[in-house]
Amino acid sequence: MLSTMQDVPLTVSRILRHGTTVHGRSRITTWTGEGEPHRRTFAEIGDRSAQLAHALRDELGVAPGDRVATLMWNNAEHVEAYFAIPSMGSVLHTLNLRLPAEQLVWIVAHAADRVILVNGSLLPLLAPLLPKMEPVEHVVVVGPGDTSLLAGCRPAVHEYEALIGGRPTAYDWPELDEREAAAMCYTSGTTGDPKGVVYSHRSIYLHSMQVNMGESMGLTDADTTLPVVPMFHVNAWGLPHAVFMTGVNLLMPDRFLQPGPLAEMIETERPTHSAAVPTIWQGLLAELAARPRDISSLKNVTIGGSACPPSLMKTFGEEYGVTVTHAWGMTETSPLGTVAHPPAGLTEEEAWPYRISQGRFPASVEARLIGPDGTEMPWDGESAGELEVRGPWIAGAYYGGAGADPMRPEDKFSPDGWLRTGDVGVITPDGYLTLTDRAKDVIKSGGEWISSVELENHIMGHPAVAEAAVVAVPDEKWGERPLATVVLKEDAGEIGYEELRDFLADRVARWQLPERWALIPAVPKTSVGKFDKKVIRAQYARGELD
Ligand code: ADP
Repeated sequence: MLSTMQDVPLTVSRILRHGTTVHGRSRITTWTGEGEPHRRTFAEIGDRSAQLAHALRDELGVAPGDRVATLMWNNAEHVEAYFAIPSMGSVLHTLNLRLPAEQLVWIVAHAADRVILVNGSLLPLLAPLLPKMEPVEHVVVVGPGDTSLLAGCRPAVHEYEALIGGRPTAYDWPELDEREAAAMCYTSGTTGDPKGVVYSHRSIYLHSMQVNMGESMGLTDADTTLPVVPMFHVNAWGLPHAVFMTGVNLLMPDRFLQPGPLAEMIETERPTHSAAVPTIWQGLLAELAARPRDISSLKNVTIGGSACPPSLMKTFGEEYGVTVTHAWGMTETSPLGTVAHPPAGLTEEEAWPYRISQGRFPASVEARLIGPDGTEMPWDGESAGELEVRGPWIAGAYYGGAGADPMRPEDKFSPDGWLRTGDVGVITPDGYLTLTDRAKDVIKSGGEWISSVELENHIMGHPAVAEAAVVAVPDEKWGERPLATVVLKEDAGEIGYEELRDFLADRVARWQLPERWALIPAVPKTSVGKFDKKVIRAQYARGELD
């Protein structure tokens, strides 16, 4: 028997319509580095999204299904693109501006992007690549920049404000099938070619609802959120779409992502919430220690993308009154997978193990652990396995490229269609996930597994340590052993490996203690600010870390 409910497609244009009317007075503030920040209401964003859609369709000939790329920072115009492009039936493709040039060229060709919206400040990056970006017919320059760099380039060049100015501020958004493509994002391709994940209108809509739930970020129109996480890193974790459902104000950092400007924008614009990978917060804490600022508006920060060191959570809480909420996700999971709110009714001490876990699964994300022998492991908090997930905002395949079928590589999808995350961990009976490692980072020493993340977290708990990354290195006797690379704080003074080793010896089993240590000036980072362990392994192999 069928239900008697209405079958209303869950589309991005519905989120836009709601945000620009019911929450029309909510604001996006974009940091400009000097002078007054730039402010725009959600209602204005709605008008300008309509103008952009008219320009793309009528002037540039963008059709439903066409890919329109963005090479942009977090700012109001990027939000306009976020809504206009999917709402008109085309596909928003956010380009990661920190990828190596050849990967960007490869991705643009694979996605067949016809148009690129680019911030003027990023023209030095884009201009030399354009001759190799064959599918691109139009470049739209957003904000000030040196357009002479585009002289003589093949694609037609447009200036954003001139292109959208004077066009109608309403658009008859088409009624779309909710399963159609709305946006796409490529994984950063640490192994092999990058892989395209294509989000649907439905997945974005449902994911946005989950982001807004109290058990996730739970923000309201009394809040202002500062997404430091880039809009090209899994859609800034869903925030730009989610806030249009609830009227949460946005504070956008644009290209000012260094600790100094971040501290300044928090002090002056007073956001209540923020979201970013751990390395951003390590930098901010160092900045605040050197040059104190008032960050008292900040009540909660969501940290994910890589394991959040418990020492970071402690410092934020004890010194600044900020609650850190740890979360886990991937490009393939939109990204919200787990969020670490502890169960109700616990003391702070009892809640701590829950807070430092990766968090619990929401109702729409099903999870299972697959052990080394391929069988499903129990949720007993002890039995480790590879995490597999499924749900309405989890990828079921990768984009296959021009006309090809979607790709379902066996190492990424199980025969029954679950996503293989490549993350290894345990789950408690009440559904809290603790990741011990990425499968490819775990240290296999004499038949036992050592968690690189656990060692890192302990080392980073030492007061003299700013950052630490532990990787597996080959060892004749044990197969692999841990190498600990350590960045000391500026004021750490003289400190030797002996002391760090002794500190660690009180915290982990003896056989897990690294014999190899290296002091380094900074941990190499990936394009989205995570520890780049493959670079460290290569440095060690070249004898640079002895
Ligand atoms: P990339 O593969 O380029 O890092 P993603 O951002 O999609 O791109 O990375 C997802 C991966 O990041 C996860 O599979 C996991 O290994 C790691 N990750 C994300 N959040 C956390 C977290 N809270 N703790 C530990 N690892 C995390």
